[in-house]
Amino acid sequence: MTITDRLNATKTALARAAVDSNRDPKDITLICVTKTFSAEEIAPLLEAGHRIFGENRVQEASGKWSGLRAHYSNIELHLIGPLQSNKTREAVETFDVIQSLDREKLASAIAEEMSRSKRYPKLFVQINTGAEPQKAGALPQEADNFIKICQEIYKLKIEGLMCVPPVNEQAAPHFALLAEIARRNNLAQLSMGMSSDFEVAIQLGATFVRVGSKIMGQRDYLT
Ligand SMILES: *Cc1c(COP(=O)(O)O)cnc(C)c1O
Repeated sequence: MTITDRLNATKTALARAAVDSNRDPKDITLICVTKTFSAEEIAPLLEAGHRIFGENRVQEASGKWSGLRAHYSNIELHLIGPLQSNKTREAVETFDVIQSLDREKLASAIAEEMSRSKRYPKLFVQINTGAEPQKAGALPQEADNFIKICQEIYKLKIEGLMCVPPVNEQAAPHFALLAEIARRNNLAQLSMGMSSDFEVAIQLGATFVRVGSKIMGQRDYLT
């Protein structure tokens, strides 16, 4: 199977999962996660018409995607990895959506950079649903307050929430927790579900799924 075949197979699986959950497939956006893959490896997906991609590192993405954007229009690039506040300028410049807003210092830096650059990427708050010490994301018990700080102090529009469940646990309870935090904060978008669990995420309300290896193949190194 080529990368394009795997993209199509993933779209079919996504549509089936949506229908099984009595949802409209159009309400679920497939983000193809291309971290570690080169521009040459990504090009066939752009040729096939796909436009929505995810990367987890600011520097890697800015180099790779500035070249691709010169050849293909209407690309929507999502930052799905942790963001250091000193990389905010480059992140706001490079990405159309930042999914890893998770602390006040970053909210402040993003707000400042947006008003300076007049570029306004869409924002998702990342929640560390498993409260893992090494993982990015606001803790679940701090989520409501953090979302309010973003909205009221920094005047940031928050589209929705994102999570990456712990690798060795069932994902479903984490997706359900994310959906519950979004519901009580009136946030419409849920970015959850990866190659191994996007069907479960769709059952639990995902509006964005982030699929890497199922489309791109195995990555050569872990990131
Ligand atoms: C790498 C990554 C993905 C995609 O993971 P796969 O298992 O390859 O589908 C999704 N979300 C985030 C945050 C990632 O870092």
